[in-house]
Amino acid sequence: MPRKKLRVDVPPDVAAEVQFLSHRICCVCRAPGKDIQIHHLDEDPSNNELSNLAVLCIECHNKTLIRGGFGRQLDVRQIRLYRDDWHEIVARRRAEGIVVALSQEPPLTPRLALRLLQPDDATPHEEITINRTGAPFNSHFAFGLVLENMAESTTAEKIGIRVEIYWRGAHIEKASGFFVDRPPSEGWKADVQWLTYHQPAVLAFQGSDRERCFAGQPLVWDKFRLHLRDRAQGHFLLSYVAASAQPLTESKGELRINII
Ligand SMILES: [Zn+2]
Repeated sequence: MPRKKLRVDVPPDVAAEVQFLSHRICCVCRAPGKDIQIHHLDEDPSNNELSNLAVLCIECHNKTLIRGGFGRQLDVRQIRLYRDDWHEIVARRRAEGIVVALSQEPPLTPRLALRLLQPDDATPHEEITINRTGAPFNSHFAFGLVLENMAESTTAEKIGIRVEIYWRGAHIEKASGFFVDRPPSEGWKADVQWLTYHQPAVLAFQGSDRERCFAGQPLVWDKFRLHLRDRAQGHFLLSYVAASAQPLTESKGELRINII
């Protein structure tokens, strides 16, 4: 008969510490919201050294008891590796000010996106199609930036946008009928290169100011405007790169303006 080991509860201070280190999340499966328990790596419940403890969920704990193949499904060496790695991740996220590990998903990556904005329509678009034979043709296109994937409103610094405009249509003279109607607001430098037969137009803007961003909302309205002359027609593809130094982002995207 194996001698029964004496069950000693983990001292409250030590229990609190090991739970804090793993953010009360199982260090192996890292699935949030599960019931957890404190596991003794050496299976000696009286050994409450911090190095001997790991937070596990019930399922993962059961795997430490099941034998399969050459040994336990989840052995001491594996748990130690998982635990140390998880404690490091939790500590790093705390230091970065990120609400720690609600799941094993990586933290949100901020994304700066350029969107088409229309005066009579507050919804930012990725594509706009205008039928010139229909309603009066509004030839102004406003562009705004949206900072996506942000948990909180924040301030973006040193925003840069580079847009290449490509054109597809029947007659090249209908491609060149656009110009920058309104440059970006003060504090922005603009560099504009026109669309020719061989090359896309290139618009490059560099902002020196800080821009206040509201999570999920357009942060900069009317950053610049394009005006399309009456003769403009065809499919315009705007391929852009938007970047900011704070938060550190670099995003690529496409906008389409179809004038048919
Ligand atoms: Zn688990």
